[in-house]
Amino acid sequence: MPQIKAYGVLSATQPLGPLQISRRETGADDVAIDIAYCGVCHSDIHQARNEWGNSLFPMVPGHEIVGVVTHVGSKVSRFKAGDKVGIGCLVDSCRECPDCQDHLEQFCSRPVFTYNCLEKDNKTLAQGGYSTKIVVHQDFVLRIPDNLPLDKTAPLLCAGITTYSPLRHWNAGPGKKVAIIGLGGLGHMAVKIAHAMKAEVTVLSRTLDKKDDAVRLGADHVYATNDPKTFENLVKHFDLIINTVSVKLDWGAYLNLLKRDGSMVLLGVPSDAPQVHAFPLIFGRRSLAGSLIGGIKETQEMLDFCGKHNITADIEIIPIHKINEAYERVVKADVKYRFVIDIASLK
Ligand code: NAP
Ligand code: ZN
Ligand code: ZN
Repeated sequence: MPQIKAYGVLSATQPLGPLQISRRETGADDVAIDIAYCGVCHSDIHQARNEWGNSLFPMVPGHEIVGVVTHVGSKVSRFKAGDKVGIGCLVDSCRECPDCQDHLEQFCSRPVFTYNCLEKDNKTLAQGGYSTKIVVHQDFVLRIPDNLPLDKTAPLLCAGITTYSPLRHWNAGPGKKVAIIGLGGLGHMAVKIAHAMKAEVTVLSRTLDKKDDAVRLGADHVYATNDPKTFENLVKHFDLIINTVSVKLDWGAYLNLLKRDGSMVLLGVPSDAPQVHAFPLIFGRRSLAGSLIGGIKETQEMLDFCGKHNITADIEIIPIHKINEAYERVVKADVKYRFVIDIASLK
Protein backbone atom coordinates (compact mmCIF):
# COMPACT_ATOMS: atom_id res chain seq x y z
CA MET A 1 0.00 0.00 0.00
CA PRO A 2 1.37 3.44 -0.93
CA GLN A 3 2.74 5.39 2.07
CA ILE A 4 2.06 9.11 2.05
CA LYS A 5 2.81 12.17 4.15
CA ALA A 6 0.18 13.46 6.55
CA TYR A 7 -0.27 15.59 9.65
CA GLY A 8 -2.29 14.47 12.62
CA VAL A 9 -2.53 13.54 16.28
CA LEU A 10 -1.64 10.39 18.21
CA SER A 11 -3.75 11.31 21.24
CA ALA A 12 -6.19 13.98 22.38
CA THR A 13 -3.60 15.85 24.43
CA GLN A 14 -0.80 16.13 21.87
CA PRO A 15 -0.30 18.82 19.22
CA LEU A 16 -0.58 17.88 15.55
CA GLY A 17 2.64 16.68 13.92
CA PRO A 18 3.94 14.79 10.87
CA LEU A 19 2.68 11.20 10.34
CA GLN A 20 3.03 8.57 7.63
CA ILE A 21 -0.21 6.90 6.55
CA SER A 22 -1.12 4.42 3.84
CA ARG A 23 -3.84 4.76 1.25
CA ARG A 24 -5.42 1.75 -0.43
CA GLU A 25 -4.49 0.81 -4.00
CA THR A 26 -6.90 2.39 -6.50
CA GLY A 27 -9.76 -0.11 -6.94
CA ALA A 28 -12.04 -0.45 -9.96
CA ASP A 29 -14.54 2.09 -8.54
CA ASP A 30 -11.96 4.40 -6.97
CA VAL A 31 -10.71 7.87 -7.83
CA ALA A 32 -7.14 8.75 -6.73
CA ILE A 33 -6.69 12.40 -5.88
CA ASP A 34 -3.67 14.64 -5.31
CA ILE A 35 -4.84 16.96 -2.53
CA ALA A 36 -4.19 20.66 -3.17
CA TYR A 37 -5.95 22.34 -0.23
CA CYS A 38 -7.81 21.32 2.89
CA GLY A 39 -10.01 23.59 5.03
CA VAL A 40 -9.81 23.63 8.83
CA CYS A 41 -13.25 23.05 10.35
CA HIS A 42 -14.02 23.52 14.04
CA SER A 43 -15.12 19.86 14.00
CA ASP A 44 -11.47 18.93 13.27
CA ILE A 45 -10.54 20.55 16.58
CA HIS A 46 -13.40 18.95 18.53
CA GLN A 47 -12.33 15.53 17.27
CA ALA A 48 -8.53 15.94 17.48
CA ARG A 49 -9.07 16.94 21.14
CA ASN A 50 -11.72 14.25 21.75
CA GLU A 51 -14.25 16.86 22.83
CA TRP A 52 -17.15 14.62 21.72
CA GLY A 53 -15.69 11.56 23.48
CA ASN A 54 -15.67 9.38 20.35
CA SER A 55 -12.21 9.96 18.87
CA LEU A 56 -10.16 7.20 17.25
CA PHE A 57 -6.37 7.66 17.12
CA PRO A 58 -4.05 8.09 15.32
CA MET A 59 -6.16 10.72 13.57
CA VAL A 60 -5.49 12.75 10.44
CA PRO A 61 -8.28 15.36 10.42
CA GLY A 62 -9.60 17.26 7.41
CA HIS A 63 -12.88 17.00 5.51
CA GLU A 64 -12.83 20.07 3.29
CA ILE A 65 -10.66 18.51 0.61
CA VAL A 66 -10.03 19.75 -2.92
CA GLY A 67 -7.54 18.49 -5.43
CA VAL A 68 -6.89 17.04 -8.85
CA VAL A 69 -7.59 13.50 -10.06
CA THR A 70 -4.38 11.58 -10.82
CA HIS A 71 -5.92 8.32 -12.00
CA VAL A 72 -9.15 6.34 -11.85
CA GLY A 73 -10.21 2.69 -11.62
CA SER A 74 -11.48 0.64 -14.57
CA LYS A 75 -15.18 1.18 -13.75
CA VAL A 76 -14.93 4.96 -13.40
CA SER A 77 -16.22 6.94 -16.37
CA ARG A 78 -17.43 10.18 -14.73
CA PHE A 79 -13.93 11.35 -13.72
CA LYS A 80 -10.56 11.42 -15.47
CA ALA A 81 -7.00 12.50 -14.67
CA GLY A 82 -6.78 16.29 -14.40
CA ASP A 83 -10.37 16.88 -13.15
CA LYS A 84 -10.83 19.32 -10.24
CA VAL A 85 -12.68 17.47 -7.50
CA GLY A 86 -13.70 17.70 -3.86
CA ILE A 87 -14.27 15.34 -0.94
CA GLY A 88 -16.39 16.37 2.02
CA CYS A 89 -17.27 14.67 5.31
CA LEU A 90 -18.39 11.34 3.80
CA VAL A 91 -16.38 8.80 1.79
CA ASP A 92 -18.90 5.91 1.76
CA SER A 93 -22.15 4.60 3.27
CA CYS A 94 -24.17 1.37 3.36
CA ARG A 95 -26.05 2.27 0.12
CA GLU A 96 -29.08 0.22 1.22
CA CYS A 97 -30.86 1.88 4.14
CA PRO A 98 -33.82 4.27 3.62
CA ASP A 99 -31.56 7.28 4.21
CA CYS A 100 -29.06 6.17 1.56
CA GLN A 101 -31.90 5.47 -0.86
CA ASP A 102 -33.20 8.99 -0.27
CA HIS A 103 -29.73 10.45 -1.04
CA LEU A 104 -29.28 11.45 2.62
CA GLU A 105 -26.17 9.35 3.26
CA GLN A 106 -25.21 11.57 6.19
CA PHE A 107 -27.99 9.89 8.21
CA CYS A 108 -27.02 6.32 7.18
CA SER A 109 -26.71 3.98 10.15
CA ARG A 110 -23.26 2.91 8.83
CA PRO A 111 -21.77 6.00 7.19
CA VAL A 112 -18.05 6.14 6.50
CA PHE A 113 -16.90 9.59 7.57
CA THR A 114 -13.72 10.94 5.99
CA TYR A 115 -11.79 10.48 9.26
CA ASN A 116 -12.41 9.36 12.85
CA CYS A 117 -14.30 6.36 11.49
CA LEU A 118 -13.62 2.81 10.32
CA GLU A 119 -13.63 2.24 6.58
CA LYS A 120 -16.04 -0.23 4.97
CA ASP A 121 -13.72 -3.13 5.82
CA ASN A 122 -14.48 -2.41 9.51
CA LYS A 123 -10.78 -2.39 10.43
CA THR A 124 -8.88 0.34 8.58
CA LEU A 125 -9.06 3.80 10.18
CA ALA A 126 -10.24 6.38 7.64
CA GLN A 127 -7.83 9.32 7.49
CA GLY A 128 -8.63 12.84 6.32
CA GLY A 129 -7.32 15.63 4.18
CA TYR A 130 -4.31 16.94 6.09
CA SER A 131 -2.41 14.62 3.72
CA THR A 132 -1.03 14.59 0.21
CA LYS A 133 -3.31 12.02 -1.46
CA ILE A 134 -6.64 10.30 -0.96
CA VAL A 135 -8.44 7.41 -2.69
CA VAL A 136 -12.25 7.57 -2.66
CA HIS A 137 -15.11 5.58 -4.20
CA GLN A 138 -16.37 7.49 -7.26
CA ASP A 139 -19.89 7.89 -5.80
CA PHE A 140 -18.50 10.16 -3.06
CA VAL A 141 -16.38 12.39 -5.29
CA LEU A 142 -17.73 15.87 -6.07
CA ARG A 143 -17.10 17.94 -9.18
CA ILE A 144 -15.80 21.50 -8.66
CA PRO A 145 -17.32 24.10 -11.05
CA ASP A 146 -14.68 25.42 -13.47
CA ASN A 147 -15.06 29.06 -12.46
CA LEU A 148 -14.29 28.47 -8.75
CA PRO A 149 -10.66 28.68 -7.49
CA LEU A 150 -9.64 25.53 -5.60
CA ASP A 151 -8.32 27.16 -2.39
CA LYS A 152 -11.42 29.24 -1.65
CA THR A 153 -13.70 26.36 -2.63
CA ALA A 154 -12.32 23.89 -0.07
CA PRO A 155 -14.54 25.18 2.79
CA LEU A 156 -17.68 24.62 0.72
CA LEU A 157 -17.18 20.87 1.23
CA CYS A 158 -18.23 21.14 4.88
CA ALA A 159 -19.13 24.72 5.88
CA GLY A 160 -20.90 25.26 2.55
CA ILE A 161 -23.07 22.16 2.51
CA THR A 162 -23.75 22.27 6.27
CA THR A 163 -25.39 25.67 5.88
CA TYR A 164 -26.89 25.19 2.39
CA SER A 165 -28.79 22.07 3.43
CA PRO A 166 -30.87 23.58 6.28
CA LEU A 167 -31.38 26.83 4.36
CA ARG A 168 -32.91 24.76 1.54
CA HIS A 169 -34.81 22.38 3.81
CA TRP A 170 -36.42 25.21 5.80
CA ASN A 171 -37.10 27.22 2.61
CA ALA A 172 -34.90 30.28 3.02
CA GLY A 173 -35.80 32.59 0.15
CA PRO A 174 -37.61 35.79 -0.83
CA GLY A 175 -39.78 37.18 1.97
CA LYS A 176 -38.12 35.02 4.66
CA LYS A 177 -36.24 36.52 7.60
CA VAL A 178 -33.23 34.35 8.41
CA ALA A 179 -30.84 34.86 11.35
CA ILE A 180 -27.37 33.38 11.57
CA ILE A 181 -25.87 33.04 15.07
CA GLY A 182 -22.06 33.19 15.04
CA LEU A 183 -20.01 34.67 12.20
CA GLY A 184 -17.32 32.01 11.87
CA GLY A 185 -16.55 29.40 9.22
CA LEU A 186 -20.11 28.08 8.96
CA GLY A 187 -21.70 31.42 9.76
CA HIS A 188 -20.01 33.38 6.99
CA MET A 189 -20.98 30.74 4.41
CA ALA A 190 -24.57 30.80 5.72
CA VAL A 191 -24.70 34.57 5.19
CA LYS A 192 -23.41 34.32 1.61
CA ILE A 193 -25.71 31.44 0.68
CA ALA A 194 -28.87 32.81 2.36
CA HIS A 195 -28.23 36.17 0.67
CA ALA A 196 -27.89 34.43 -2.72
CA MET A 197 -31.18 32.62 -2.00
CA LYS A 198 -32.67 36.15 -1.60
CA ALA A 199 -33.66 35.82 2.06
CA GLU A 200 -33.44 38.84 4.40
CA VAL A 201 -30.32 37.98 6.41
CA THR A 202 -29.50 39.03 9.98
CA VAL A 203 -26.22 38.20 11.74
CA LEU A 204 -26.36 37.70 15.51
CA SER A 205 -22.74 38.03 16.62
CA ARG A 206 -21.51 38.47 20.19
CA THR A 207 -20.36 42.04 19.49
CA LEU A 208 -20.56 44.48 16.58
CA ASP A 209 -16.83 44.04 15.83
CA LYS A 210 -17.55 42.06 12.64
CA LYS A 211 -20.40 44.33 11.49
CA ASP A 212 -18.65 45.69 8.38
CA ASP A 213 -17.58 42.20 7.35
CA ALA A 214 -21.09 40.84 7.88
CA VAL A 215 -22.58 43.52 5.64
CA ARG A 216 -19.91 42.95 2.99
CA LEU A 217 -20.69 39.21 3.07
CA GLY A 218 -24.38 39.91 2.42
CA ALA A 219 -26.09 40.58 5.76
CA ASP A 220 -28.96 43.09 5.79
CA HIS A 221 -28.79 43.58 9.58
CA VAL A 222 -26.29 42.86 12.35
CA TYR A 223 -27.05 42.76 16.09
CA ALA A 224 -24.85 42.08 19.11
CA THR A 225 -25.98 39.29 21.39
CA ASN A 226 -24.08 40.82 24.33
CA ASP A 227 -26.65 43.64 24.23
CA PRO A 228 -29.84 42.65 26.10
CA LYS A 229 -31.86 45.01 23.87
CA THR A 230 -31.28 42.63 20.94
CA PHE A 231 -33.44 40.05 22.71
CA GLU A 232 -36.14 42.62 23.49
CA ASN A 233 -36.31 44.22 20.05
CA LEU A 234 -36.32 41.08 17.94
CA VAL A 235 -39.04 39.02 19.67
CA LYS A 236 -41.14 37.04 17.13
CA HIS A 237 -39.00 38.38 14.28
CA PHE A 238 -37.43 35.48 12.36
CA ASP A 239 -38.76 32.61 10.27
CA LEU A 240 -35.54 30.66 10.66
CA ILE A 241 -32.50 30.83 12.93
CA ILE A 242 -29.34 28.92 12.02
CA ASN A 243 -27.19 28.40 15.12
CA THR A 244 -23.53 27.74 14.29
CA VAL A 245 -22.09 28.32 17.78
CA SER A 246 -20.12 25.52 19.42
CA VAL A 247 -20.49 26.65 23.03
CA LYS A 248 -23.49 26.53 25.35
CA LEU A 249 -26.03 29.33 24.68
CA ASP A 250 -29.43 30.11 26.23
CA TRP A 251 -31.42 28.47 23.44
CA GLY A 252 -34.72 29.61 25.00
CA ALA A 253 -33.75 33.27 24.60
CA TYR A 254 -33.11 32.70 20.88
CA LEU A 255 -36.30 30.65 20.38
CA ASN A 256 -38.28 33.70 21.55
CA LEU A 257 -36.95 35.56 18.49
CA LEU A 258 -38.81 33.20 16.16
CA LYS A 259 -42.21 34.01 14.67
CA ARG A 260 -45.06 31.54 15.08
CA ASP A 261 -44.07 28.21 13.46
CA GLY A 262 -40.46 29.34 13.11
CA SER A 263 -37.52 26.96 13.55
CA MET A 264 -34.11 27.21 15.12
CA VAL A 265 -31.68 24.76 13.57
CA LEU A 266 -28.64 23.65 15.55
CA LEU A 267 -25.43 23.11 13.61
CA GLY A 268 -22.83 23.74 16.32
CA VAL A 269 -22.07 20.99 18.78
CA PRO A 270 -21.38 22.18 22.35
CA SER A 271 -19.66 19.63 24.60
CA ASP A 272 -22.27 20.07 27.34
CA ALA A 273 -26.05 20.00 26.87
CA PRO A 274 -27.98 23.26 27.35
CA GLN A 275 -31.47 23.00 28.87
CA VAL A 276 -34.55 24.34 27.10
CA HIS A 277 -37.82 25.16 28.83
CA ALA A 278 -41.00 24.09 27.03
CA PHE A 279 -42.58 27.57 27.08
CA PRO A 280 -40.67 29.19 24.17
CA LEU A 281 -41.57 26.15 22.05
CA ILE A 282 -45.23 25.88 23.11
CA PHE A 283 -46.01 29.60 22.80
CA GLY A 284 -45.66 30.04 19.08
CA ARG A 285 -45.60 26.37 17.96
CA ARG A 286 -41.89 26.82 17.39
CA SER A 287 -39.42 24.04 16.56
CA LEU A 288 -35.91 23.31 17.74
CA ALA A 289 -34.19 21.18 15.11
CA GLY A 290 -30.75 20.02 14.03
CA SER A 291 -29.06 19.38 10.71
CA LEU A 292 -26.00 17.36 9.73
CA ILE A 293 -23.87 18.29 6.69
CA GLY A 294 -25.78 17.10 3.57
CA GLY A 295 -25.98 14.13 1.22
CA ILE A 296 -23.72 13.73 -1.81
CA LYS A 297 -26.42 14.73 -4.32
CA GLU A 298 -27.18 17.89 -2.37
CA THR A 299 -23.47 18.66 -1.95
CA GLN A 300 -23.10 18.63 -5.75
CA GLU A 301 -26.22 20.84 -5.99
CA MET A 302 -24.61 23.26 -3.48
CA LEU A 303 -21.33 23.36 -5.45
CA ASP A 304 -23.24 24.07 -8.66
CA PHE A 305 -25.29 26.78 -6.88
CA CYS A 306 -22.05 28.35 -5.62
CA GLY A 307 -20.55 28.11 -9.13
CA LYS A 308 -23.60 29.89 -10.57
CA HIS A 309 -23.56 32.64 -7.92
CA ASN A 310 -19.74 32.83 -7.72
CA ILE A 311 -19.73 32.01 -4.01
CA THR A 312 -16.55 30.88 -2.27
CA ALA A 313 -15.22 31.20 1.27
CA ASP A 314 -13.16 34.05 2.73
CA ILE A 315 -9.95 32.28 3.68
CA GLU A 316 -6.53 32.62 5.29
CA ILE A 317 -4.06 30.21 3.66
CA ILE A 318 -1.55 28.54 5.98
CA PRO A 319 1.33 26.09 5.55
CA ILE A 320 0.83 22.83 7.44
CA HIS A 321 3.34 23.68 10.18
CA LYS A 322 1.09 26.56 11.33
CA ILE A 323 -1.80 24.22 12.06
CA ASN A 324 -1.51 24.16 15.86
CA GLU A 325 -1.46 27.96 15.93
CA ALA A 326 -4.46 28.00 13.60
CA TYR A 327 -6.42 25.71 15.96
CA GLU A 328 -5.80 28.13 18.84
CA ARG A 329 -6.99 31.03 16.72
CA VAL A 330 -10.17 29.22 15.61
CA VAL A 331 -11.05 28.52 19.24
CA LYS A 332 -10.70 32.26 19.94
CA ALA A 333 -12.86 33.04 16.85
CA ASP A 334 -9.81 34.85 15.43
CA VAL A 335 -10.02 33.79 11.77
CA LYS A 336 -11.47 35.52 8.72
CA TYR A 337 -13.25 33.26 8.10
CA ARG A 338 -11.69 29.86 7.41
CA PHE A 339 -8.13 28.59 7.52
CA VAL A 340 -7.17 26.56 4.47
CA ILE A 341 -4.00 24.46 4.45
CA ASP A 342 -1.82 24.67 1.35
CA ILE A 343 -0.98 20.98 1.02
CA ALA A 344 2.06 21.83 -1.15
CA SER A 345 3.72 22.72 2.19
CA LEU A 346 3.43 19.04 3.20
CA LYS A 347 4.95 17.64 0.02
P1 NAP B 1 -16.00 28.65 14.09
O1 NAP B 1 -15.38 29.11 12.82
O2 NAP B 1 -15.19 28.56 15.32
O3 NAP B 1 -17.27 29.63 14.36
C1 NAP B 1 -18.03 29.59 15.52
C2 NAP B 1 -18.55 31.00 15.87
O4 NAP B 1 -19.26 30.90 17.10
C3 NAP B 1 -17.49 32.04 16.15
O5 NAP B 1 -17.00 32.68 15.02
C4 NAP B 1 -18.24 33.02 17.04
O6 NAP B 1 -18.95 33.97 16.26
C5 NAP B 1 -19.30 32.18 17.71
N1 NAP B 1 -19.11 32.05 19.16
C6 NAP B 1 -20.05 32.26 20.10
N2 NAP B 1 -19.59 32.09 21.33
C7 NAP B 1 -18.31 31.76 21.21
C8 NAP B 1 -17.28 31.49 22.16
N3 NAP B 1 -17.50 31.52 23.49
N4 NAP B 1 -16.06 31.18 21.69
C9 NAP B 1 -15.82 31.15 20.36
N5 NAP B 1 -16.78 31.41 19.42
C10 NAP B 1 -18.00 31.72 19.84
O7 NAP B 1 -16.62 27.22 13.93
P2 NAP B 1 -17.26 26.49 12.64
O8 NAP B 1 -16.20 25.73 11.92
O9 NAP B 1 -18.12 27.46 11.93
O10 NAP B 1 -18.15 25.38 13.36
C11 NAP B 1 -19.17 25.77 14.26
C12 NAP B 1 -19.74 24.55 14.95
O11 NAP B 1 -20.46 23.77 14.00
C13 NAP B 1 -18.72 23.58 15.57
O12 NAP B 1 -19.26 23.08 16.77
C14 NAP B 1 -18.62 22.47 14.56
O13 NAP B 1 -18.22 21.25 15.11
C15 NAP B 1 -20.04 22.41 14.10
N6 NAP B 1 -20.26 21.78 12.79
C16 NAP B 1 -21.40 21.10 12.63
C17 NAP B 1 -21.70 20.53 11.40
C18 NAP B 1 -23.00 19.83 11.20
O14 NAP B 1 -23.12 19.07 10.26
N7 NAP B 1 -23.99 20.08 12.02
C19 NAP B 1 -20.77 20.62 10.37
C20 NAP B 1 -19.60 21.35 10.56
C21 NAP B 1 -19.35 21.93 11.78
P3 NAP B 1 -19.10 35.51 16.73
O15 NAP B 1 -17.70 35.97 16.99
O16 NAP B 1 -19.74 36.13 15.55
O17 NAP B 1 -19.97 35.54 17.94
ZN1 ZN C 1 -16.66 20.30 9.16
ZN1 ZN D 1 -27.19 3.68 4.57
